Amino acid sequence: MESNTKKPSLLLVDDDQFLLNMYSLKFQNSGFEVEVVNSGLLALQKLRDGYTPSVVLCDLVMPSMDGLEFIKKVREERLSPLSAIVVLTNQSQSVEIERAKEIGVDGYIVKASTIPSEVVQEVQNILAKKKP
Ligand SMILES: [Mg+2]
Repeated sequence: MESNTKKPSLLLVDDDQFLLNMYSLKFQNSGFEVEVVNSGLLALQKLRDGYTPSVVLCDLVMPSMDGLEFIKKVREERLSPLSAIVVLTNQSQSVEIERAKEIGVDGYIVKASTIPSEVVQEVQNILAKKKP
């Protein structure tokens, strides 16, 4: 029998393989369908290909295309407009956090001060608020 409740989906973007593995597992265990990519460029390709995740959880400092540039493109090209965009960042990146807010993100999470289960909880809270 097929369930009526669709699983929430997550696009996880981070150049740190350890974090990708860790968060991916945490979110899967919490009922998310998870796609992982290690750069903004690959994330952008996924969205351009028509992927519409419930939420994009995105690191800021990454090679080839950083998180801010990625989010800016997503907004400019109006890719997956219903996706929540949440920035995952390091405490020291306060200027970038401000810039992310200007571009328009649904939330940001500071890595160092947030344990993985709290990251999942925070994303779930953001999704719950976003629902009409
Ligand atoms: Mg990084």
